[in-house]
Amino acid sequence: MVLLTKVLVALARALQVTIYTDKLPPAAGGAANAFVVRIRPKYRGDAGIHAHEAVHVAQFWAVSALACVALSVACHLAQQPPVYAVLGFATHSLLYALVPAYRLWAEVQAYSEQLRHYPDDRTELFAEYIAQGYRLDISPAQATDQLRRASNA
Ligand SMILES: [Zn+2]
Repeated sequence: MVLLTKVLVALARALQVTIYTDKLPPAAGGAANAFVVRIRPKYRGDAGIHAHEAVHVAQFWAVSALACVALSVACHLAQQPPVYAVLGFATHSLLYALVPAYRLWAEVQAYSEQLRHYPDDRTELFAEYIAQGYRLDISPAQATDQLRRASNA
């Protein structure tokens, strides 16, 4: 799983645009929307934040690819033009916005990758972020457990 994540993140970094800006939600150090990453200028040298957002871009590309293929097959079977397959590019964003379990999975994957880039253990800090910052019904202890499991996978 770690190797697959590394491959996807490397591909995502080649297929992303990074902008350094403070036009972000107040508590955010960075954000990814599809393949566009925004990071606060003060975190320009923070490899962990860059890795976190690259995981989200990898999630966008992987889910989009699967959804576009599935929708192409569905269009073919329904004898509809394949133009509807482009809706697959909205899948990651919709799942992230509407499905708490998907949002939790996405953040646990991103924070577990981010953890690898600091000399100190920030598991408890990131667990607090996950528990309090993403509209999830999860305690910091549960988030810590999820992060530890993802980091050991
Ligand atoms: Zn995130």
